[in-house]
Amino acid sequence: MTACKNCELLKKEELIIFEDEQVAAILSDTPATVAHVIILPKQHYTILEQAPDEIVEKLGIVANKISTAIFESLNIGGTVVMIQNGTVAGQDVPHLSVHVFPRTENDELSLGWDTQKVSDDELSMLASQISKAVLPVGTVPVQQTVQKEVPADQIDGDDEDNYLIRQLERRP
Ligand SMILES: [Zn+2]
Repeated sequence: MTACKNCELLKKEELIIFEDEQVAAILSDTPATVAHVIILPKQHYTILEQAPDEIVEKLGIVANKISTAIFESLNIGGTVVMIQNGTVAGQDVPHLSVHVFPRTENDELSLGWDTQKVSDDELSMLASQISKAVLPVGTVPVQQTVQKEVPADQIDGDDEDNYLIRQLERRP
């Protein structure tokens, strides 16, 4: 098998700023902006659709934590968090990655786009087409996640409705 650039990047321990068993966040050695971070699953998945929900979830959580850490440790104005999913989307390494680009006023990173005109008919047709496809995809993982994240022994005596309301209101 030909060497994967991201699998090789995972071996550069001096560039790793966070890792656990599943993912690593690594400073890019070919950065688009200063302190450009690439977050990789340690297992080689080519595109997002191949990664199990657990990994997708972890990538999102780590991207948020890295983004926060960059924001707090460097003098930046914001971050862009991005996944290029597929060659047509600009993915140049066939190993799923999340990019975190720290942004400053004049960093010259170009990620802008022009908006397109679209008719209401076309929009509602697209919404219908996509929602039919997303329903079977979304149903099973969401149920699994709820069961995993809210085990009965953490509902500490209150009924489930109260627990869910507390979660919604973010009370301790
Ligand atoms: Zn790889």
